[in-house]
Amino acid sequence: MTARRSNPQLRKARQHFQALARLLPMLAGSLVGQYVTCGKPRCRCTRGQKHGPLYYLYWKEQGRSRSLYVPREKVSELRRQIQNYRRFQTELAGRLRRQLRDWQRRLKEERPR
Ligand SMILES: [Zn+2]
Repeated sequence: MTARRSNPQLRKARQHFQALARLLPMLAGSLVGQYVTCGKPRCRCTRGQKHGPLYYLYWKEQGRSRSLYVPREKVSELRRQIQNYRRFQTELAGRLRRQLRDWQRRLKEERPR
């Protein structure tokens, strides 16, 4: 048993990390279904019956919005990964809040009176 392994703070941090790692793979984007017109003059889409939904993956890169077409057979896989990322963000925020409260409690206990 090393000193590192017996450190309860470090053990807790490792457990947090493992719990979050269960949410892999994840994807930091959003999926948007759009109905589109194809441009052919005689197509039904010119009379309001648009094609779709066609799916696009949106994400931000250096402040700019980017997007890519997603083939229908990839939609559910991407959707799962995006859900994982949202759960990751929520869980991480919760864990960080709890950690901050722990520190508040410990620092108050050690405060000189
Ligand atoms: Zn059309």
